[in-house]
Amino acid sequence: MARVDNEAACRDTIDYCRRNGLSICARGGGYSYGDLILNDENVLLDTSGMDRILDVDEENGLITVEPGARLVDILRIVLPLRFALGALPSESTITVAGAIGTNVNGRDSWRLGNFGDQVVSLKLMLASGEVIDVDRGSNLELFNAVVGGMGLLGVIVQATLRLEKVPSPFLEISRVPVRDVAELLAHMERVESTDDFAVVWVDPCSRSPALGRSVVHATHWVESDATADELVPQVEASLGRLETRLRQARTVLPISEFVVTSMLQIQQVSVRLFNSFYFFYSRIRHRLHSADNVESFLRYNFDASFIIPSASTVCGPHGYTIQLTFPRSAALEAMTEMIELCQASPCFPAKLIMRAHRSDDHLISFSEDGYSLNFELHPKKRHIERMNRFVEDLIECVIRYGGKIHLAKDQVLNRNQFQRLFPRYDEFLKIKRRIDPDELFQSDMYRRLIRTDAG
Ligand SMILES: Cc1cc2nc3c(=O)[nH]c(=O)nc-3n(C[C@H](O)[C@H](O)[C@H](O)COP(=O)(O)OP(=O)(O)OC[C@H]3O[C@@H](n4cnc5c(N)ncnc54)[C@H](O)[C@@H]3O)c2cc1C
Repeated sequence: MARVDNEAACRDTIDYCRRNGLSICARGGGYSYGDLILNDENVLLDTSGMDRILDVDEENGLITVEPGARLVDILRIVLPLRFALGALPSESTITVAGAIGTNVNGRDSWRLGNFGDQVVSLKLMLASGEVIDVDRGSNLELFNAVVGGMGLLGVIVQATLRLEKVPSPFLEISRVPVRDVAELLAHMERVESTDDFAVVWVDPCSRSPALGRSVVHATHWVESDATADELVPQVEASLGRLETRLRQARTVLPISEFVVTSMLQIQQVSVRLFNSFYFFYSRIRHRLHSADNVESFLRYNFDASFIIPSASTVCGPHGYTIQLTFPRSAALEAMTEMIELCQASPCFPAKLIMRAHRSDDHLISFSEDGYSLNFELHPKKRHIERMNRFVEDLIECVIRYGGKIHLAKDQVLNRNQFQRLFPRYDEFLKIKRRIDPDELFQSDMYRRLIRTDAG
């Protein structure tokens, strides 16, 4: 692993690798779930030390940062100024270049797009060591390839991001239970026109006529009279609470891992019981009008990763997480089919989360005008083979409906599936051959899914 904290060190590493016939895989926070951040017997280039915030342009709502700047550090500065950043994942220490590399999604992605849509321009260090400006105006084709391009075209050494003007750092949250997939989709249509964020907990166990019953957590920004000076301590207090939660979560991790793992030994029962409990609890709170509250944006977006056991705990040693998108026009059929597949599988997903999306122009992008389901799967050892077949069926299902997969969470696709999911992969490869003909930038995922025999 080569750790760099400035452009010159980055260039030196590139030179060294070129001279020694090694390939490079860039790495940010290292939070991706798959082999896109592995590079067997070659070099990982860790840019998380290049983490400076270079400029905040309040007038135009822009921020310029180095690639390793963490999302939480950006929010610390911009929230008191009544700005926010769109398409944030639920882990606060993910880096800007990592978020661009996989074009991550947030709970507002139907409104603001994925992370790539927040990028105004970036600087890319090529295999030659030259740094070029990449933006929609001067080289749109390359811009669309670098966003979501998993670091395979060069090293991002700087990015300018668009900020969203917001009335305060606070949100009002509602939690509405819905009875089935049809009611969920109708409710989501309303939420998408009135709210700013939404994330849906879906019960994978409940059968028809309550198939797809869910709780929709929808949120919108609220006004606050506080001045910027007053907002600073409020934002700091929220950050302090997040840090406390993180410490608490780490302290209780061995216990929560033990509890979750034990419960998942009787998975079909415990997942069913938990989901029924959560649905009826939410319904009672909704009827009593006690399901709505105001919360800081930081808590809303990031707190869940501390309260809810991590994917590694939920998924266990043989499990994985997988996020699949499908078009709005086929949402009813696709969701119904995928939930039915869950019910026929040896183990229900331990967690099933839905988000809304809009399409974008990036060549390898999982975003589209529609929705996604994120499955956290916890198979027992004896179920692995059947679970693998179940995941195959899920993937084939989204391919049939014209859907996609979030590659940051993939470790199971094969090359043929990749090509059917991302039909523009050949445009991506053409660009790669042009600007990185010697394939300096690679990863295990590149060799598994993208590299052709000719490459
Ligand atoms: C707890 C948790 C919650 C998550 N929640 C979400 C979520 O809500 N939504 C979502 O979409 N994803 C989510 N993810 C996935 C995560 O957002 C992505 O995997 C993200 O890419 C991780 O960013 P990172 O900084 O860790 O980068 P890494 O994982 O290190 O890298 C990601 C990609 O970016 C490339 N890259 C990194 N740095 C550079 C650079 N300087 N130049 C060029 N390429 C570079 C890498 O090569 C790699 O392909 C979550 C992950 C975790 C662990």
